[in-house]
Formats: sequence, structure tokens, C-alpha cells
Amino acid sequence: RKIVVVTGGVLSGIGKGVTASSIGVLFRAMGYRVTAIKIDPYLNVDAGTMSPFEHGEVLVEIGAHLKMTIYFFVGYATAVFVLDDGGETDLDLGNYERFLSVSLTKESNLSTGKIYQSVIERERIGEYLGKTVQVVPHVSDAIQEWILRVAKQPVSQFSKSFSENGNISDSPPEVCIVELGGTLGDIESMPFVEALRQLQENLGYKNICFAHVSLVPTMGSPPEQKTKPTQHSVKQMMSMGLRPDFLCCRGSSPLEPSTVSKLSMFTSVPNGAVLSLHDVSNIYRVPLMMIEQNLHSMLLQRLRMGPFQKGINYS
Ligand code: ADP
Repeated sequence: RKIVVVTGGVLSGIGKGVTASSIGVLFRAMGYRVTAIKIDPYLNVDAGTMSPFEHGEVLVEIGAHLKMTIYFFVGYATAVFVLDDGGETDLDLGNYERFLSVSLTKESNLSTGKIYQSVIERERIGEYLGKTVQVVPHVSDAIQEWILRVAKQPVSQFSKSFSENGNISDSPPEVCIVELGGTLGDIESMPFVEALRQLQENLGYKNICFAHVSLVPTMGSPPEQKTKPTQHSVKQMMSMGLRPDFLCCRGSSPLEPSTVSKLSMFTSVPNGAVLSLHDVSNIYRVPLMMIEQNLHSMLLQRLRMGPFQKGINYS
């Protein structure tokens, strides 16, 4: 089972959700079954009691087929995103369901509140045998267990053609996309970062990779693309033991070749893996932009999937 982690640097609202969903679309287009987990480092147990102005979307569901259509019209209105099992979650889960055509459960949304609640419940019934309960290893282990559990859970996926086998099938996913909310370096996300670092050790290099979304602003006269914010956020990421395999650079215009080489030199991410995810008029173009830059094939190579199962074919 392969895991792709999407992290973000510099500032929030940079496009992690869209990047994570689009990576899922690439795998789906290549025929893999995909699931997704959104990690929200806030302390709320679920988004049900949170302000709709911060985390808004409402779902009206009229049967499985119509669900996607309705999303498009009603999306980004008010309230939280409600999953099929009644789980009240952040609106990113809505993006995942739309992009991946899957039906997720409330387990797909992981918050600090949920993790601490589960650890404290376990402590109360004596599962830790009176030991001192700590962030590392107890909370970080609980996070890893949660991710691995959801990564294995069968997802209902709408098949490509509605006429195929009665529309929906339930089987375990092959790829799990994990989006770490917030910005790397936030105090709240530290236990999750540590858990992901350990997960990388436990799963092995070929089973997990990291895509880091960062900002490349254009400033000055003549306009110049600035790489410093991304350099700093990658440095910070590395100081926490995570190394980006792909750099997804959000900015107002496509990355210049000189910006790509500079980023690659400072971050040790290969030239080809520095991707330009510049502003587009419609977020459904983002997966196409990724394909143009060959991300789908690089993901398969990095995770030793498909034609690359037996190692990288350099020919
Ligand atoms: P995050 O998950 O980092 O908070 P989101 O994925 O929710 O960010 O994206 C924030 C906003 O930016 C959304 O409104 C989304 O539609 C928009 N967005 C993301 N990527 C792009 C892009 N490449 N072009 C235009 N808009 C984008």
C-alpha cells in the first residue's frame, strides 16, 4: 500500500487540498483505487461545531448518482461538509470526494482532538499499563495506526462508467493520499510531522513519498520570481526529518526555467520534480497541469509502481 503525503509551507490556503486531490486524480486515471485522509491539527474533535465561515460547505444528497452534480451547485455555501456516515468534516473532504469519486468516512478526517481523545480513552481503561503516556511514542503511534487503518479501509468508488457493474464497488485502496493541514512548523502539527517521519521509517522508502506545496511569489520591477520562501520552508521541513520528493510551487505565473534550477539547487529536489502549479481559472485544470509536467510517471517511479515495480527503468 502506497502513501503520498502532501504538506504545505509559507502560508495557509496555498492549495494543499487541491494538490492532494489532483494527485489522487492522477492515480485514479492510471487505474488505481485511491483513498484520502485529511489531517487537521486543530483540537476540535470534529468540524461540526466550527464556524461555517472558516470551514464551509454543505452537502445535499439525492442518491449516489446525483451526489456529484449536486456538489457542484451547492459547494462552498455554508455549514460543514457532511460525509455519508454523518461525519462532519472540513471542506477539503468534499474536494476529495468530488475529485476521486469516492465516498469517504469520518475516519478520513483526523484531528488532534480525535487522536488525543482516543489516547486518553485508552489510558483511562488502562491499556498503557500505568506507563507515562507521552506524545512520542503514544500519540505518534496512535496517529500512525490511524493512518494505516484508514489506508486499508475499503472505499466506495464510483466506477468510470455508470453502466459498469452497478456503479459502486467496495474494495481496499491501493494508494492513500494524506494531506497535512496547516503550515509545516506550526506548533499544533508537530506530533503529526513526527508520526509521518516515523511512518516513513516503518514503511520503507518505496512505500511513502512527500509532495511539498510552497509559494513562489513574483515581485519587483522587472518582475522576478522569488525562491527564498520556498528555500526556507524546505529547510524547515528537512530540520524535522522530512524530505520533499516533489515541490509543488504555487504562484501567479508558470515557473521560469532559471527559478526551477535555483529551487532544485537549494532544495536538492531534482529539476524535473520541481513543478509549477501556477494559478489557473479552474482548479480542475490542476491535474492536467501535473500530467503535462510528468508527475504521474514520476510518482509511479518513486513508489515503484506499475512498470517500475522491479526498480527504475532508466532506458
Ligand atoms: P489549503 O488546503 O492549502 O488550505 P486549498 O487547496 O483549499 O488550500 O486551496 C485554497 C484556495 O486556492 C481554494 O479556493 C482553491 O480553489 C484555490 N487554488 C488552489 N490551487 C489553485 C490553482 N492552481 N489555481 C487557482 N486557484 C487555486
